[in-house]
Amino acid sequence: MKGRKASILLIYTGGTIGMKQDPQKGALVPFDFSQILDQVPELAKFAIRIDSVAFDPLIDSSDIEPSMWIRLAELIRDRYDTYDGFVVLHGTDTMAYSASALSFMLKDLTKPVILTGSQLPIGVPRTDGKENLISSVEIASATDSEGRAIVPEVCIFFGSLLLRGNRAVKESSEAFSAFISPNYPPLAEAGINIRYNTSFIRRPADWDSSLKVSTALDTRVAVLKLHPGMTPEIVRHFLLGKETRAVIIETYGSGNAPAKDWFLDIVRESSESGKILVNVTQCLKGGVDMDIYDNGRKLKEAGVVSGLDGTTESTLAKLFVLMGITQDNTIVKNALSQNLRGEILLS
Ligand code: ASP
Repeated sequence: MKGRKASILLIYTGGTIGMKQDPQKGALVPFDFSQILDQVPELAKFAIRIDSVAFDPLIDSSDIEPSMWIRLAELIRDRYDTYDGFVVLHGTDTMAYSASALSFMLKDLTKPVILTGSQLPIGVPRTDGKENLISSVEIASATDSEGRAIVPEVCIFFGSLLLRGNRAVKESSEAFSAFISPNYPPLAEAGINIRYNTSFIRRPADWDSSLKVSTALDTRVAVLKLHPGMTPEIVRHFLLGKETRAVIIETYGSGNAPAKDWFLDIVRESSESGKILVNVTQCLKGGVDMDIYDNGRKLKEAGVVSGLDGTTESTLAKLFVLMGITQDNTIVKNALSQNLRGEILLS
């Protein structure tokens, strides 16, 4: 792309960044996208062509649905050859889910897909939206000396940090640095300059490979967060429900669960019935190792597979995509322990 103007497609889905107060309701509601670019005249100073497209209707990201991830992925696929990078404006509440989903839906990505948003609407004087948007555009258009994208990954840029999308979690509902990546270093930090941690950034095996997009998502996944005081009825409902094909069990510490007979019996029955059971820790940092404690070992013996150091958001998205690709649960279970997009560390 040397010698020509970079081009970015800005996709606006909704979220606080583009919201304003509804005088009647007093609550924040999305407003027309064209005003966002008016609010950020700084973008015109970049030698970058920025085109935009807005979802209709614009949503609070609590309303995001897998069908919208499919729309996003298809939009990126359809405009892939026209743009050097993509910036998705998205509400923060479910941004980590959407970033995870896109990371698995888009295979052999050679261009940046940066999700960003803000904690304060862009029209508010102290907004963090301008900085997030401007830096995201800069990152999405950044290339190395050979003209290749510096960050050919699905990422979240927020509060000065560029994070791998499927490693990020929303940590704060108040702070401008709302996202963290507890188990993987930031891919870049924006200060006076944007400093890229190039050794942590994934690169395609082949820069000439074409983008592959998975749009079949199987959402028959339940998430069971363990807590003291669970009853057999509730656990049975989650693990043996006819409507679920997979269950993410959010366990304690390094992947531990009660070793009570009734609990393990239900886990075993569920696993033997063919369901995919994945162990993800409730801890923000670290991961699952079911060989440390006897309680973890019993869970493993009962048929639960390890989600290693993956987040719940990314494990959910990985399941949706893998289960959409195949009906064979054994293939899905095996793929869960493979590092597909930098979402887990294998050790
Ligand atoms: N509720 C908003 C959303 O996720 C919050 C935000 O954007 O920060 O759409």
